[in-house]
Amino acid sequence: MSDMANTRERDVVVVGAGIVGLACAWRAAQAGLSVLVVERDEPGGAASAAAAGMLAPVTEAVFGEQELLRLNMAGRAEWPGFAAELSERSGLDIDYAETGALFVAADRDDVGELRRLNELQRSLGLDARWVTGRDCRRLEPGLSPRVGGGVLAPNEAAVDPRAVVRALVAVLDQEGVEVATGCEVERVEESAGRVTGLVTSRGPVRAARVLVAAGPWSGSLHDAAPKVRPVKGQIVRLRGAALAKRIIRTPRCYVVCRPGGEIVVGATMEERGFDATVTAGGVHRLLEAAWEVLPDIEERELVEASAGLRPGTPDNRPVIAAAGPEGLVWATGHHRSGVLLAPITATMVTRMLVGSSAAVVGSRG
Ligand SMILES: Cc1cc2nc3c(=O)[nH]c(=O)nc-3n(C[C@H](O)[C@H](O)[C@H](O)COP(=O)(O)OP(=O)(O)OC[C@H]3O[C@@H](n4cnc5c(N)ncnc54)[C@H](O)[C@@H]3O)c2cc1C
Repeated sequence: MSDMANTRERDVVVVGAGIVGLACAWRAAQAGLSVLVVERDEPGGAASAAAAGMLAPVTEAVFGEQELLRLNMAGRAEWPGFAAELSERSGLDIDYAETGALFVAADRDDVGELRRLNELQRSLGLDARWVTGRDCRRLEPGLSPRVGGGVLAPNEAAVDPRAVVRALVAVLDQEGVEVATGCEVERVEESAGRVTGLVTSRGPVRAARVLVAAGPWSGSLHDAAPKVRPVKGQIVRLRGAALAKRIIRTPRCYVVCRPGGEIVVGATMEERGFDATVTAGGVHRLLEAAWEVLPDIEERELVEASAGLRPGTPDNRPVIAAAGPEGLVWATGHHRSGVLLAPITATMVTRMLVGSSAAVVGSRG
């Protein structure tokens, strides 16, 4: 389709075909709404393609973010059902694996830091226990003898986000939902306090509701937009025999080994605006940090180094809320956990779109 001017009015138009927008579109279509997704690039081409796919709220827990932790735990609980339904309906494997995670200490400083983290996890009732260096190597023989101990979190999991995007595009197609690519949204249109549609590079689109899921670019689409900023993450992909069964983390990196032979080493956290350049320093630091604990990594084939822009908010919590003219809904700011939170976001957004809930999560400032 070369222009959108003649498309019929939809119940909902979703801006952004990242993992969040696609998951929301799927659940909204299943709820009986007519949905169109508009994407300026390709589905999943931004942060969702960069992501490692850890579903790891316990090892992500940090001091002072208990409310986010609760949401992340609820997000984790939605994944088994979401993964099973998505694989079955799409007929595609998304590499969902309940492997657990081992957060290891590469030196004595790390031991102190991880002991404090483990105290926090236990005080919050999370399933995470301290294991000695020897037990770490018994669990994961590929670990360096230098590893001085670690935290075992048995309920963490991982998924392949690129495969999830492919599967979501397939199920949307089955539901008759068009994903219009190469379609850049310029602004949200409104009249008398209500959303009426969008102005796009391919013409106007009419819609009763607009869901903005445009990652860190969401902030420029309306005056009522929440504050979202890009947080750059560089990440490396290797190929070869798995280095570990579980997700391996250290305070400086994480390593995820997928069943098909992909090994993902992530990720930097950088405040550099919309710059997504891959740098020698970023890649060097990640590989060195991984080599510190998994020395066999040096024999693996280097396949790809990339960078993505996480949508960050002032309090690190996502914004899943209506704001602005009636009919305008936001699902953005998922920062480090957009893959983890995509299913629960889709559930919450769909409730809002069908009008059965006015749920508001996260910062609106
Ligand atoms: C290196 C790295 C590793 C990560 N690892 C993990 C992980 O292990 N687990 C986890 O849960 N999360 C992880 N994340 C975070 C996760 O990737 C993000 O939170 C998530 O992808 C955000 O998804 P999204 O759909 O909101 O945004 P995006 O994936 O950025 O998608 C937004 C889409 O909107 C489109 N768009 C923007 N503006 C417009 C416009 N004006 N018109 C039309 N389209 C537009 C963009 O082209 C893009 O496709 C990681 C992120 C990075 C960078």
